[in-house]
Amino acid sequence: MKYSALVIPTLRDAPADAEVASHILLTRAGFIRRQAAGSYHWLPLGMRVLAKVQRIVRAELARIGAQEVLMPVVQPAELWRRSGRWDVMGAEMLRLADRQNRDYCLSPTQEEAVTELFGRTVGSYKQLPCNLYHIQTKFRDEIRPRFGLMRAREFIMKDGYSFHLDERSLDETYADMYSCYAAILDRIGLRYRAVEADPGAMGDNDSHEFHVLAAAGEDRLAYSPASDYAANVEKAEAAAIADDAEVEDLAKVPTPGVKTIEDVAAFLGVEQRRCVKTLIVHATGSGDHLALAALVLRGDHKLNEAKAMRLNGVRRPLVFATDDEIHAALGAHAGSIGPIDIPLPLLVDRSAAELASFVCGANQDDYHLVGANWQRDVGTDFQTVDIRNVVEGDSAADGSGPLRFMRGIEVGHIFKLGAKYTRALNVTVQDAAGQDTAPIMGCYGFGVSRIVAAVVEQWHDDDGIIWPEAVAPFAVHLVALNNSRSVAVQSTAEDLHEQLEAGGLEVLFDDRDERPGVKFADADLIGIPHRITIGERGLKEGVVEYRRRDAATMEKLSPSMTVRRLIDR
Ligand code: ATP
Ligand code: MG
Repeated sequence: MKYSALVIPTLRDAPADAEVASHILLTRAGFIRRQAAGSYHWLPLGMRVLAKVQRIVRAELARIGAQEVLMPVVQPAELWRRSGRWDVMGAEMLRLADRQNRDYCLSPTQEEAVTELFGRTVGSYKQLPCNLYHIQTKFRDEIRPRFGLMRAREFIMKDGYSFHLDERSLDETYADMYSCYAAILDRIGLRYRAVEADPGAMGDNDSHEFHVLAAAGEDRLAYSPASDYAANVEKAEAAAIADDAEVEDLAKVPTPGVKTIEDVAAFLGVEQRRCVKTLIVHATGSGDHLALAALVLRGDHKLNEAKAMRLNGVRRPLVFATDDEIHAALGAHAGSIGPIDIPLPLLVDRSAAELASFVCGANQDDYHLVGANWQRDVGTDFQTVDIRNVVEGDSAADGSGPLRFMRGIEVGHIFKLGAKYTRALNVTVQDAAGQDTAPIMGCYGFGVSRIVAAVVEQWHDDDGIIWPEAVAPFAVHLVALNNSRSVAVQSTAEDLHEQLEAGGLEVLFDDRDERPGVKFADADLIGIPHRITIGERGLKEGVVEYRRRDAATMEKLSPSMTVRRLIDR
């Protein structure tokens, strides 16, 4: 294809709002253009990459028997009201009304729609498992759209949903999807890691995220170099940290106006890790009076809210008690609260529970206790739980050694949903005994547009993009130097163009009347894997120059040799 026939608006400068390489390079190289915050036009080069990603995704999904459908982007509110998510989704969901004033939303995801569709089209267990997916535009009014395609408001997702009669069948499809995602990422040519993920509002079900490893990633992953343990930091667990301190005598000390852990530690001259913090949250409970629970952590550790919310007895979403609620229940204000003699359910983080001697609030304003000990001063009436964020260097929970962190771009997320949506939408199938039963579901998201950005994050240098072959917009970039002034250059280039295309290769032929420097800079920026440069001087010696985008060296070859080399690859 001739360069002059395509819209490839390359730019010398980065867009003002671009912070990461993929946003800068995809814009500069003319693959995408911003329309508004978080929404992008796809230009001809971008479309070619997107089409290749989609082809790989479809091929791998077909191998595991997933069926492609296409569901509408505009969804009636009614569906979402039935699942209860019309209210839960909040401001991330863009809502609209039609001319009859009926409510709709732009699809942020498709669980409701696919479940309803399934309910009206599949009635018998004999059709299960059933695995449906589509590739479609999603809209999410993200609070902070940024990083170009990576966190957009309008983006393209492959979302799939499977239906099963029993857990065993769901487990099988889940495992198939896991391998399918790995195969897609392998084929594209990405370094990635599948990690255990926080299942979010779905409960304790299995959930894995696929992350492309890149410094620009928004997610932090914890992994153990000595084992295959890897998890999103939101979910990662560490082993309890033992404490070999001496048990001390308990003493109450005045700490006037000293409230935060930093201040308490400084005031008493102890390390923050020897102080515990006690956080009061709303508990699940019935009756008129407000039920509360106490969460206890080491002073140097941070509460992981997702873990805390999953605990039995803790209200979800997590609500911290106000200072008034704390005072009404405990007779002291936040900042002086501690676990000794506290009349609330006590949930103590593993590492806080190991402390042999610690400082805590005295449940009396302006006093703290020093030398506290769990067994002696609290007794056994507390639960040991995991509610903290791991930090780099913590020992992995599998005993394999210290955890390390790295950054990732979440490109895929698979999880088990159970019967949440089939129950909510009253969808059943007949099982073998003729009984109506609500199928259980799995759900599988894949960021088709985000992955294009992820590829560029991993594959670029200072001059531009370095596309892996599997998703490159073209295989070969033909650069003809001063072709408008040299008949030999122009005709050799046209010959090569024809022969390479006849050999099945996708060729971008830079036939423009531009200076060599401009053509080389654009070629580096656009990042097509193989480049052939045709110039008058070389042709006099019977050669053209061949260079790979990812290699520093150039080779001089005859035109026919170059064609053979590329076609026989
Ligand atoms: P994130 O934590 O990044 O917001 P999510 O948990 O909201 O992701 P899912 O609802 O599981 O994501 O969506 C499935 C996939 O869709 C994600 O793994 C990601 O690749 C893609 N995706 C989600 N949000 C966006 C976005 N704002 N822009 C581009 N792709 C996105
Ligand atoms: Mg999100």
